[in-house]
Amino acid sequence: MATKTVYYIEGDGIGPEVWKAGRPVIDAAVEKAYGTENALDWQLLLAGERAFKETGEHLPKATMDALANAELAFKGPLNTPVGKGFRSLNVTLRQVFDLYACIRPIKYFKGIESPVKRPDLVDMTVFRENTEDVYAGIEYQSGSPEAKKLIEFLVDEFGAKIDATAGVGIKPITPAGSKRLVKKALDFALEQGKPSVTLVHKGNIMKTTEGGFRAWGYELAEEEYKGRVVREGEDGEGVIIKDRIADAMFQNVLMYPEQYSVIATTNLNGDYISDALAAQVGGLGLAPGVNMGDKLAFFEPTHGTAPTIAGKDMANPGSLILSGAMLLEHIGWHEAANLIHKAVEKGLADKKVTVDLAAQISGSTQVGCREFGEIL
Ligand code: NAD
Repeated sequence: MATKTVYYIEGDGIGPEVWKAGRPVIDAAVEKAYGTENALDWQLLLAGERAFKETGEHLPKATMDALANAELAFKGPLNTPVGKGFRSLNVTLRQVFDLYACIRPIKYFKGIESPVKRPDLVDMTVFRENTEDVYAGIEYQSGSPEAKKLIEFLVDEFGAKIDATAGVGIKPITPAGSKRLVKKALDFALEQGKPSVTLVHKGNIMKTTEGGFRAWGYELAEEEYKGRVVREGEDGEGVIIKDRIADAMFQNVLMYPEQYSVIATTNLNGDYISDALAAQVGGLGLAPGVNMGDKLAFFEPTHGTAPTIAGKDMANPGSLILSGAMLLEHIGWHEAANLIHKAVEKGLADKKVTVDLAAQISGSTQVGCREFGEIL
């Protein structure tokens, strides 16, 4: 019998209710596919508000120690109060465990009334760099001694035209950080038989950072994937590697979704593009994801804690359930993952869905979070 240990964090807000509705669906798929031969061994870890109440810490040491040795983890959403000197727990987890690739598949499910004309052509996977860029957290407040000193240096040394009252942030993007992210995207495209990888950047304006990302992506393809990856417009066989400027790309994914498959991009571009793509195929309630490093894969529904509907049995557990399917694919339990995809397809076809989807599927009946999980 194969048992895989999965450490899980319930999360804040709608976290506990989507777990309660979603986890049985994941376990049922494993049981249906493999009987008692395979099973997931779920180990609860505390984090977020519940952890703070019980231990006085949002990320207790026991949780961090367990994650340091883990290969598989799964989390519900965690709250980040805005502007209260409270560092995002999500960002902290990504940085401490060096979860440098945020991977989000975006695939259309039949029956969803999408805002785009040809949603059935949407089948993309976004690889977003997760540790660098303006998310590195290097920011200085307007008027602070640090900001003033930095501005003074930039004005004196480089003649930079910056107002002394500016708030300033740093956007670090490195060759190593870019290459390891693009490597994950190229490996995925090769393993899954995907047609192309598109490097999305804003290198026309930010030449050394975003432009660097583009150049290092191509460099990696040249150095390590010769004969397996071919640059757009050049002769040869293999996965096509191409690049697009981010603003044009936003337009292109809406108008010509069939031209894009795997997308590899910097942190901020990836943040925007993955949510915009999710909106075409059902929104955050159906958007799964994983944050991955070289050892730990940390699966998570991509939505937040949805405080206005928390505790009301209204949340959609679909994103968590589909993240479970990603986990099963990651460990090679494809049959169970397929069962989950089929269940979601059938659930949507039956038109008994949670409030967020009811608004996008005409003729549907609204059901609660728990009941939607039971239907699946
Ligand atoms: P949110 O995703 O919580 O909510 C955005 C909108 O989508 C709301 O209208 C909400 O009701 C709806 N929604 C989200 N998930 C849903 C679901 N499963 N079913 C039905 N409707 C759903 O984003 P927000 O309001 O910007 O953030 C709220 C809190 O969540 C903040 O503290 C934020 O920092 C945190 N957050 C955490 C994560 C994470 O843990 N990965 C991600 C995003 C936001």
